[in-house]
Amino acid sequence: MSHAQPLAGQTVLVTGSSGGIGASIAERLSAEGARPIIHYGRDGRGAEALLGKLGGNGLIVQADLSSPDGAFTLWRDALAAAGRIDAVANNAGIRTEISVDADPADWRAAWQKEFQVNFFAAADLCKEALVHFRQNGGGRIINMASRAGQRGYTADAMPYGATKAALINLTKSIARSFGRDGVIAVAIAPGWVRTDMAEDFVAKYGKEAAVGDIPIGEMAETEEIAELVAFLLRPSQASVNGATFDVNGGSYIR
Ligand code: NAD
Repeated sequence: MSHAQPLAGQTVLVTGSSGGIGASIAERLSAEGARPIIHYGRDGRGAEALLGKLGGNGLIVQADLSSPDGAFTLWRDALAAAGRIDAVANNAGIRTEISVDADPADWRAAWQKEFQVNFFAAADLCKEALVHFRQNGGGRIINMASRAGQRGYTADAMPYGATKAALINLTKSIARSFGRDGVIAVAIAPGWVRTDMAEDFVAKYGKEAAVGDIPIGEMAETEEIAELVAFLLRPSQASVNGATFDVNGGSYIR
């Protein structure tokens, strides 16, 4: 293992990597020697542009994770393209606003879609990855949760926090249950990170609403999250298994 390329030889599936945090993760992993599998839902051009930026080091796979079998299709196609997968970063996610005043049908649809994309798709990928990892001497799972899953969330986006809490709990179960199979599972819980998701919120509620309770006064940059993901994939890091990494500028200290 080279120090400049600590992730050499690893193939890592990164969901939702056509933009935002996912694209930064794919770039960083590639810079450290890994081959990212760039998954996208709708932004095929973004995925192609990213692959170009990586000098062609990677594979592209499309799948709609809002469909119940989307994650299984993604896993099948990714494995067929890559031959072997060493790690999965469940990064794809949505944040839907729905008020308690909404019609029951809209309320229920919002909760179901949020759980489908943010949690069920990730759980399905974990299932497939665990079976694959057990047959191949191990692997790693990194689940992109959120501070919202730790401390609770705002009235208008309660499904988001609930999906992320579930993802943290799933990560802990995997860490406890599959560590002996060589599987390392960790969750990352960012506060606000400067991406489209955050810019949408700032456009609607103002910057102060996002950073007012962050002691360092700023959102995280996507590169900070990407650097952490790369670190957590280093073969030298095994005892991190089961941990939830807070990346929130001190806005939630536990
Ligand atoms: P983003 O909106 O820029 O990216 C989300 C990604 O998920 C996109 O690549 C998108 O294509 C993918 N995705 C969404 N719905 C999909 C679907 N149905 N099928 C396939 N792919 C789909 O957001 P981001 O800020 O980069 O978020 C990445 C992850 O980080 C998410 O899980 C998010 O919840 C989490 N997160 C973000 C912040 C933040 O402030 N930006 C904070 C905490 C956690």
